[in-house]
Amino acid sequence: MENKIKLLYMLQTLDLKLMDLEEEKGDLPGIVQNLNDQINELQAQIDELRKQINEHTSTREQSNLDAETLNQRVESLKKQLYEVRNNKEYDAITKEIAEAEENIMAKMQNAEEHDDKQKELSANVDELKQKYESLQSELQDNQKDLQEVSKVHEDEELQLKHERDKIARQLPQETLVSYDRIRSAKYGKAVVPITRGACGGCYKTVPPQLNLLLRKNDEILHCENCGRILIAEEIAAEVNKVA
Ligand SMILES: [Zn+2]
Repeated sequence: MENKIKLLYMLQTLDLKLMDLEEEKGDLPGIVQNLNDQINELQAQIDELRKQINEHTSTREQSNLDAETLNQRVESLKKQLYEVRNNKEYDAITKEIAEAEENIMAKMQNAEEHDDKQKELSANVDELKQKYESLQSELQDNQKDLQEVSKVHEDEELQLKHERDKIARQLPQETLVSYDRIRSAKYGKAVVPITRGACGGCYKTVPPQLNLLLRKNDEILHCENCGRILIAEEIAAEVNKVA
């Protein structure tokens, strides 16, 4: 088994190359992601509006049905008026007719309000749909560009990832986790060679005993100042020669 530090440094060399390839894709991955997010958000808004439209439609339909039922009742009450036998009965029926007609007015007004609301929301949906279409076509253009850029480096990227996996498999999980954590905090460089007795990351002088330890064993040692993993200069040079 190869030296753990050396393996880590080899891993980083590959990661930096992969980062360069990723950079050549420029903003495209971010743009595509952003467009996808916007499209999903729009879709959710459209779905919500459509749900509200359906609710207004069924309320309007119910109000119209209620008004129709009340209308029939009024018709039948009016017929009963011809058959009344006394004033008291006459008054009761005319009172019921008046109430029913008032109710009909209210139901019809209600139906109209829900109809207006539904039309307003439908106009909103049309607007959002237009926006949706234009974002979709923008997304397609950017996806096409991204695919073209990716295709150029596809083989190289695959090869690098394959090599990376091979090395990563030889390293303990906790070492990889620590490497990734330092890497993301230090813009891609977690392992740095000691140069002229100083940390290659922060340039702080490394104590001689630490330097000695580094040459001796497989232990992972960190710069006391910046926390990066240190590698002896000659081992780094060896890796760089091969890469
Ligand atoms: Zn340092």
